[in-house]
Amino acid sequence: MLNIILMGPPGAGKGTHAVWIERDYKIPHISTGDMFREAMSSGSELGSKIKEIVNRGDLVSDELTCALVKERLSRDDCARGYLLDGFPRTIPQAESWEKIAKDIHREVSLVINISCPDEELVKRISTRRVCPKCGASYNVVSMKPKKEGICDICGTPLIQRKVDNEASLKIRLANYYKSTAPLLSFYKKRGTLHDFDGMAGAEQLKVELNALLASHK
Ligand SMILES: [Zn+2]
Repeated sequence: MLNIILMGPPGAGKGTHAVWIERDYKIPHISTGDMFREAMSSGSELGSKIKEIVNRGDLVSDELTCALVKERLSRDDCARGYLLDGFPRTIPQAESWEKIAKDIHREVSLVINISCPDEELVKRISTRRVCPKCGASYNVVSMKPKKEGICDICGTPLIQRKVDNEASLKIRLANYYKSTAPLLSFYKKRGTLHDFDGMAGAEQLKVELNALLASHK
């Protein structure tokens, strides 16, 4: 069963690998950002509640976040697996999710952590380009699209995101490490954590990830 949590700092290569994992293993890539946006525009009871909180400028509680993940992952398209990106972010979320996942038969089977040194992430971020439509990421130095400025997968013009600069990256990294380090030890204890070296290069990393995924199918 490929019930996967994808972890790694911004720029480590999560987006790149999520694209082919979703396609080749036919499991939905679910990012919490997309999930929140979808829920808020859906008009569902839970979505409306979340919209109200976000519009007020408050943080959505762990309880509501877990309820939203539960609703999304209960759907049929997750019956053969899922690739969850951006959740859980905290130990309380991980603990609640463990209980809920068991109830709905969606227990986490693999945690994929792609690590990468800060200096490399800083170097990558300024040359990063993303597809606003399908989410694929590219790098104008190390991973160019076939046609300059155009997404290989869906043909959409690529953009440089406003948050992709050194100052904002450093803040995101500090927050990431603070909340993630405890999660890594949490999943290590569960025996589900698999570490990958983001410096290995996208092709090599794909080979290693494929070996892991194929053995858990
Ligand atoms: Zn695209």
